[in-house]
Amino acid sequence: MAKYKITINEEECIGCGTCVALCAENYEMTDDNKAKVKTAEVDELGKNEEAKESCPVSCIKIEEF
Ligand code: SF4
Repeated sequence: MAKYKITINEEECIGCGTCVALCAENYEMTDDNKAKVKTAEVDELGKNEEAKESCPVSCIKIEEF
């Protein structure tokens, strides 16, 4: 079982692209300019933590199981 679950509150996302710039491995922009997590459940956070900390509206959430 994965250790972390990453979610984005799409209502709050302003589409700035920061998370994609910092962690393109796990974030992408949708056609309506919202960020989307590619793999929501991961064992290692890697750059996901930095992406979360850098989101200007703090809409990325990381839960630890
Ligand atoms: S950094 Fe935050 S506001 Fe910017 S695209 Fe990513 S989730 Fe959306």
